[in-house]
Amino acid sequence: MQSLAIVGAGIAGSLLARALQEKYQVHVFEKSRGPGGRMSTRRSSDSSWYVDHGAQFFTLREQSNSQFLEKLELNDVFATWNARVVYFKDCGIFEESPFREPHYVAVPAMNSLCKKALQDLKVTYNARITELKREDYGSWSLLTEQGAVFDNFDWVVLTAPVLQSVELLPEDFENRSLLATCKMESCFALCGPVEEESSWDAAYFHDSSKIRWMARNSSKPGREGESFYVAHTDSDFAQKLQALEKTEGLKLFHKEVKRVSGLDFRLENSFGHFWRYARAQNSIPGDYAIDSRLQLAVASDCFPGTRVEGAIQSARSLARKLSESV
Ligand code: FAD
Repeated sequence: MQSLAIVGAGIAGSLLARALQEKYQVHVFEKSRGPGGRMSTRRSSDSSWYVDHGAQFFTLREQSNSQFLEKLELNDVFATWNARVVYFKDCGIFEESPFREPHYVAVPAMNSLCKKALQDLKVTYNARITELKREDYGSWSLLTEQGAVFDNFDWVVLTAPVLQSVELLPEDFENRSLLATCKMESCFALCGPVEEESSWDAAYFHDSSKIRWMARNSSKPGREGESFYVAHTDSDFAQKLQALEKTEGLKLFHKEVKRVSGLDFRLENSFGHFWRYARAQNSIPGDYAIDSRLQLAVASDCFPGTRVEGAIQSARSLARKLSESV
C-alpha cells in the first residue's frame, strides 16, 4: 500500500484522511494540539465552558458534499442550527428573519466533525511541518520545526490555509503561482459571557460597523455549560486590533461591540483570538491542485465554494482522484 502524508487536521485534511484510509497508509501532521483548524473550539481548563471561535456554521448546498459526509458516516456529528437571526443597522435591529438555507453545526462542538473523522487514524499533533524534501529515490520526507524527520511517503497532500501551503510547495509545483494569487481576509474573535443576554441567537451587521457577526454559542444544538457569545470583526479592524497591545485591543473591540449591538461582554472572563488567514477573498479555479509527477497535492477552501463547504468539496474531489491513482 502506498503511503500518504497529510499536512493539517482541519476539515479538508480530516475528511481526506478518513476517505483514503483504506487505499493508503495515512499519516496526518497537525501543528496544533488538536484537530479542527479554523473549525475550532476553545475550552476552559475546568470545562465549564467551550466556544466555537472560528467557523460558526456550514452549508451543504451541493448534494454530493452531504452524500460524502454520509458515506464517511459522519452524519451523527452535525445538526441544523435553528437560530433566531437578526440584522443590525445603525446600532439597532432593523430586520429579523430565519437563515435562508439550512445552517449546520458540528455537535457538541465545531471541532467534533474533525475529531470523529480522525478517530483511529494516525495523527501526530504539535508537529508544524517546515519543509518537504524530495529524496533522490522519489519519496517525500517531512521535517518539523522541532527537527524531527518523517520519511518514506509516496504522496503528500497539503491542507493548510493556501498561502501557508504555498510556502511549503517546491518552486516547480504545477500551479504554484496560481495558488499564490489567492487573497485571504483576517478576522478577530472576541468570546465571553455578557452582562445581559440578547433576545437573538445570531446577528449580522449590515452597515459600516467593524463588527460582522455575533452569535450566542449556547443556542447551537448540543452545547452545554456557561452561556458564551462570540463576535467577529471585518479584516481591517482585525489588523488594527492585532497591532495593539493585547488588553488595549480587547477593550477597543469590547467598546465597538457594545456600541453597535448593546451587548456588554464581561471582559475579565473573555478572550480574543486573531485569525490571520480566516477566509479566502477570491477563489482559484478547480477543486484542488495536483502535480502527479511530484505526487504532491493541495486541498483547500481557496477553491470554488470557499469556506467550510469549499474545503469539504476540495477533500471529496481530491479523495476521488487519489483513489483512482492506486
Ligand atoms: P483549516 O481549517 O485552516 O485547516 C488547516 C490545518 O492545517 C489547521 O489545523 C492548521 O493548524 C494546520 N497547519 C497549517 N500549517 C501547518 C503546518 N505547517 N504543519 C502542520 N499543520 C499545519 N466558514 C463557513 O463555512 N462558515 C462560517 O461561519 C465561517 N466562519 C469563519 C469564521 C472565522 C473566524 C474563520 C477563521 C473562518 C470561518 N470560516 C467559515 C471559514 C472556514 O473556517 C474555513 O473555510 C474552513 O474551516 C477551512 O478548512 P481547511 O481544512 O481548508 O483549513
